[in-house]
Amino acid sequence: LKVQNGSYFCFYNNTIANDINARVEMNNALKAGIGRKDLSLNYQPQIDLQSGGVIGVEALIRWQREDGHFVSPDEFIPVAESSGLIAPISEWVLYEACHQRKAWLDQGPEDFRVAVNLSLSIFKNDDFVELIKKTLADTGCRPGLLELEVTEGVIMENPEQTLQNFRELRELGVSFAIDDFGTGYSSLSYLRQLPVSALKIDKAFIDGLSENDDDAAIARTVISLGRSLGMKVLAEGVETMAQVEFLWSAQCHMAQGFHFSRPVAAEKVLPFIRDTGRS
Ligand code: C2E
Ligand code: CA
Ligand code: CA
Ligand code: CA
Repeated sequence: LKVQNGSYFCFYNNTIANDINARVEMNNALKAGIGRKDLSLNYQPQIDLQSGGVIGVEALIRWQREDGHFVSPDEFIPVAESSGLIAPISEWVLYEACHQRKAWLDQGPEDFRVAVNLSLSIFKNDDFVELIKKTLADTGCRPGLLELEVTEGVIMENPEQTLQNFRELRELGVSFAIDDFGTGYSSLSYLRQLPVSALKIDKAFIDGLSENDDDAAIARTVISLGRSLGMKVLAEGVETMAQVEFLWSAQCHMAQGFHFSRPVAAEKVLPFIRDTGRS
């Protein structure tokens, strides 16, 4: 584009500058927020579609700014990712989730995993396996109670390293789920070698289940793919009974979404599990 109109150029330039300023401002606020403990975790139950019981909870980060309003992780995680703040944040999330899981263990016999989302930079780190081991040891959380959610993009960034990391942690008892499955690109022959216990079908496909034949076909395909690879399949973002009925008929193993529960504070988790267990 040849810019002849000075004011247009200026406007365009300002937009970029504003955008950069906004990211810098957000990053500074986030840095201050970490020190002030403005970050917290919520937990969203994952439901076994056959028994109706809770088999896991996904830890989801929350950031409440000083003015009280919440910033979505879809907004601040990418900013933290590009500034490097993601490292201390991820370490905190991992520690907090494992620490919380140990606290639940001390309060009752309920057997469910806590799932933690891993960003690319933490996964890429040479000390990744050590960090997981150290966090489990420091918190006293059993490895079998921890699940790590990794996207196809993160996995395919370094397939060799991924395979090695997964195998090493899997041996300890840590399990893995592939997040947002279907939106990325991963080779099936490679996928077969990974010790992964679950595929999470992305919400985008679940949204279209009732109106869109293609989405229903994709969901069915992922479910049968998971079965033939010996993995369980979890549907994300389930909001309606119609979606649950589809998933039952397609023999999907697990589901997560507002239909069952929104992400909730840690102290609501055991009461929720005990309630669903009774009904
Ligand atoms: P994700 O891992 O795919 O998480 C699922 C997102 O969908 C969560 O949004 C969850 O609250 C939302 N969700 C669950 N069920 C429903 C539903 O029925 N309807 C709708 N509309 N939404 C539903 P959230 O918590 O805003 O997180 C967004 C993304 O931010 C996550 O996507 C994940 O990629 C990232 N994220 C969240 N917490 C962490 C974290 O601790 N570390 C890292 N690295 N990323 C995180
Ligand atoms: Ca996730
Ligand atoms: Ca997801
Ligand atoms: Ca997502």
